[in-house]
Parts: sequence; structure tokens; C-alpha cells
Amino acid sequence: MNDTILRVENLTKTYGDKTALKNVNFTVKRGRIYGFIGENGAGKTTAIRAITGLTHATSGKVELFGQQSQKGLEAARKKTGCLVERPILSLNKTAFENLQMQQLLFGQNDSEQIRQLLYRVGLGDVINKKARDFSLGMKQRLGIALALINRPELLILDEPVNGLDPMGMVDIRNLLRSLCEDDGITILISSHILTELYQLVTDYIIISHGQIVECISKKELQDKCSAYVLLETPQADEAARLLEEKGVTETERVNGQIKVFDDIPKEDIAKWMYEGKILLTLLLKHEESLENYYMHLLGRGEK
Ligand code: ATP
Repeated sequence: MNDTILRVENLTKTYGDKTALKNVNFTVKRGRIYGFIGENGAGKTTAIRAITGLTHATSGKVELFGQQSQKGLEAARKKTGCLVERPILSLNKTAFENLQMQQLLFGQNDSEQIRQLLYRVGLGDVINKKARDFSLGMKQRLGIALALINRPELLILDEPVNGLDPMGMVDIRNLLRSLCEDDGITILISSHILTELYQLVTDYIIISHGQIVECISKKELQDKCSAYVLLETPQADEAARLLEEKGVTETERVNGQIKVFDDIPKEDIAKWMYEGKILLTLLLKHEESLENYYMHLLGRGEK
């Protein structure tokens, strides 16, 4: 089974002489949660608008559920729910009425589905409350419910946690995790803060200045951002033996280099090596924080 449900190829979008997207490429696979990360103005909304058909790309291709033609994409977009920037809500109408209007757009009329959806997004006890009385977090959850009305297989959300307080963020994160894990919905969610989505996503697509700078799984990112002491020595076998004798358990060897992941000060390691008459040509503590890594990547997108 082909588990790629979205493929973006060489997507370019210009506004006059301003290039918002430049040869953007990435894929989204079924059952995963992608964090689409980039600084303000990086091109996230433009890419999402092109994917969801809200704007035309200048060049390049969007393939959704295997469809690339205009007609095919129209059908495929019906399997996609999206919330771009702020949800479009009728503030004078209740949560129920807002969803009812959305259903009408899809030619549906199913009160039970509306009730279920509102419970699903945590608004079950405010079904008949007007949207204007909702907090920002409640409005975002109602926006997600609107995006879910057509039972999408792919949910695309543009900065849904932007401006939310920590509790509001936790609520949305839990909701999205459950939509993916329990309902099998694939999610693409944008943010300008890498760490904001850390507990939620399985993969990152990082964009900067209109260009993709990295597509990386969370596991790979964790490996890159882990802390370890790096040793380089022409006596790698002896050094590895000595570390084992000292009770070190978490190591990785690549040629003459050894990474020690146990939480041991590098001064202790230096002392052991000195006493063991092992020559060190390099000894350093590697500690890349997620934020540092991200800042470094953003620099790469600059023209
Ligand atoms: P943010 O996090 O601030 O929403 P973003 O990553 O979503 O940023 P976009 O909104 O996609 O970024 O904007 C990408 C670039 O394209 C920006 O430089 C923006 O000023 C420009 N841009 C977006 N829409 C238009 C438009 N309609 N006309 C001209 N320039 C535009």
C-alpha cells in the first residue's frame, strides 16, 4: 500500500518580485504527525494555501492521495480538513450552529455527528454557547471541529496553538494526538517554534526563507540533539575496554571515535584515560539544544 498521501514537488510561489516559496519538496506519510516549522514569513501559510487549493502555485506540483490533476485534486481535497490561520466562525452563532452551517456546505445534515464532534474536541458542555463567548483555545477547538466535519484522512492546521496559554496548548496537543492515534488521521501542523510541538509530532519539515532546510524524523532529531562526550584516540579498543571497566554502559563507536552517552563529566574521562596511558587526540562535550539546532538550520535558508 502506498502510504504517501501528500507529495509536494518543486513548489514555487512568487508575489511580484517576492519569492515566498522556492522549489519546495516534501512528503507526508499516512498515520504520522508532521510539524511544519519555520520563522515568521518562512512560507508555511503560503505552502498550506497552495496544498489546500486556496492559492495557485507559480510552478511545481501538489499530489494529494495520488491525485495531481485539477479534478483529481478537488476530489482529494474533500478528504482533507484544514484550519488556516484563525478559524472562520460566525461569532453570533452557537458552536452547534457553526458546525451545522459547515455541514450544509458539504450537503449534510446530521445533528448526532455535530454533537459527537463537539464532545470529541472538548466542547460538549458548551454546545449551545455562542462562539463570541469562547476563549481563544475554545475557538481553535471549534475550528478543528469544523475541519473535521467531512471526516478527513488528512488534517492541515496552520499555527493552531499560536497565542494559546499553556493549558490551551496541552488541550490541543492531546486532542491532536488522539485524532492521530485513535482515529488514524494524518496531521500536518505548522508553528514558528520548534519545541512547541516536540511532544506531539513524529516528524519535522523545516522551512526557512521559502526553502525546505530539513525533513527529519523526531527520532533523528533526538539523536542529533543528544548530549554526549566525544573521545578520539588511536587506542580506541583499549579506551573502550577501560570505559567498560569503569562501568560506562552507553557508548557508540565510529572508527577512532567513541561517544559516551552516560552522564559522566569529561574531566573524569580525561583522568581515566591519562591513568590508563591512553592518548586522547580529542575530548569534547557535545550538547546541542533543540533551539540551537533550529537556529543553525534557519541560518541555512538565508539567501
Ligand atoms: P507566519 O508565521 O508569519 O504566518 P509564514 O511562514 O506562514 O509566516 P507566509 O505567510 O507564507 O509565511 O509568507 C511568506 C512570504 O510571502 C512572506 O515574506 C510574506 O510577506 C509573503 N507573502 C505572503 N502572502 C503574500 C501576498 N498575498 N502578497 C505579497 N507577499 C505575500
